[in-house]
Amino acid sequence: MSLPLMKNYINGEWVESNSTNIGDVWNPALGEKIAQVAYGTKEDVDKAVKAAKDAYWDWRTTPPLTRARYLFRLKDAFEENFEDIARVLTTEQGKCIDEARGEVRRMIENIEHATGVTTLMCGYTLEDIAKDIDCFGHRQPVGVFAAIVPYNFPGMVAWWFLPYALVTGNTYIVKPSEQVPMTQTKIFEIIDEIGFPEGVVNMVHGSRDVVNGILDHPDIEGVSFVGSSPTAKYIYERCGATGKRVQALGGAKNIVAVMPDADLDAGMPSLITSFYGCSGQRCLSGSVLVPVGDVADELLEKFSAAAKDMKVGSGLDEKTAMGPVVSAAHKERVLGYIEKGIEEGADLVMDGRNYTSTEFPNGFFVGPTIFDNVKPDMTIAKEEIFGPVVSVVRAKDLDQVIELINTRGFANAACIYTNSGAAAREFKYRVKPSMVGINIGIAAPMSFFPFGGAGDSMFGDTKGHGQEIFNFFTDTKVVIQRWF
Ligand code: NAD
Repeated sequence: MSLPLMKNYINGEWVESNSTNIGDVWNPALGEKIAQVAYGTKEDVDKAVKAAKDAYWDWRTTPPLTRARYLFRLKDAFEENFEDIARVLTTEQGKCIDEARGEVRRMIENIEHATGVTTLMCGYTLEDIAKDIDCFGHRQPVGVFAAIVPYNFPGMVAWWFLPYALVTGNTYIVKPSEQVPMTQTKIFEIIDEIGFPEGVVNMVHGSRDVVNGILDHPDIEGVSFVGSSPTAKYIYERCGATGKRVQALGGAKNIVAVMPDADLDAGMPSLITSFYGCSGQRCLSGSVLVPVGDVADELLEKFSAAAKDMKVGSGLDEKTAMGPVVSAAHKERVLGYIEKGIEEGADLVMDGRNYTSTEFPNGFFVGPTIFDNVKPDMTIAKEEIFGPVVSVVRAKDLDQVIELINTRGFANAACIYTNSGAAAREFKYRVKPSMVGINIGIAAPMSFFPFGGAGDSMFGDTKGHGQEIFNFFTDTKVVIQRWF
């Protein structure tokens, strides 16, 4: 049986790439191929940019409220198709269906926030900056923008940017991850039904050639990237070289501290979700668990018991707490880190290497894994594993935790569990990562707050969504005026 081939969406039409480089899309729970995707070419990018550029002036001169009305219609259509989008997402990415639903909800929240354009895009004015002279700062759209996004949130991440780009009057191109192209294809089918003007919003599938086509194209004004840190750095540098606006969000190695006074029973569900939700494939996932002082043994006992209780299996089963990782290659990478942890002398107290599902014997599963007595300089305490592997680094006090956090290159998120307001304040005040959870294991800013980290986790200064995203997608034109 032939597999469906994902098409590009350019100028309001579904078009096939002429690329002969075709990749497979997998269902990671079944370990089966379910679709194919062409790894597009520079020519595909050129076509999309031309369509977006041709559409720009009409769209830019469309009143902001009229542009917002397209988004209102899109929101309604996403609500109607909510479950279908979530199911496609789980099928190709593997995460649990409830996690997929949460992702679709976050996507919609970005649309909702962007529709505040008539307030959020306002400029500012001041009369009489000098005798009889007034000054106006208008926020104007800039042109064609593009998003390059990762595999772990196939739906949401592009929507940290796209609604804001469109509503402010820019035109857009999305390049989904080649590992999970089906979700965004489903979303673009809905976009197609809404009937945006041709060329306003486009999608090109592919990998490096498409990315490089975007980075080098003189008619693309800016790029929003989310993915691993080495790629983020590459994107940032290349956009700098070609003079583009850029925001490049990278990888993470998040530390979760548990103080001796923490309420372990109340905190346990969110602690478990922090480390094992989405099988650890979240940029906000906990990766290093740091018990402080004498809480270590009790914490480890309760955490291990809860981890053991999780049902691992297909994400489409409502009872599943943890799905597979995305691919066979990624499973090998995660297993490689577990081997490394053993080699470097950490104590493997829960071993997920040989997890097999009787229902889904070919799935790409890794069971929950825990290392105790991990030292801060071990590989598993430093590098991003992006799998269900917990490294426990024991600390004697809060100062030691903060020191550990602030000496990592990654600085995406950090969390603390405590009943002490003083400890929580000290923590949030001093840690470098820019997303902080207090008795919260996944410190995910909602659409009306900025999303992004610091250090090696973020290249650029304007983060995803929030209010500042309106700066990224606009230029403030200052007009100084005098009438004789
Ligand atoms: P990735 O860097 O491999 O890929 C991201 C995108 O870049 C994809 O679209 C891919 O096609 C493209 N790409 C990959 N390598 C490239 C190269 N050499 N040249 C040009 N383009 C390239 O990331 P991934 O594996 O898809 O996603 C997981 C990573 O994303 C993790 O590191 C995770 O922490 C990070 N992430 C970060 C955030 C955040 O908010 N900071 C959010 C989600 C994911």
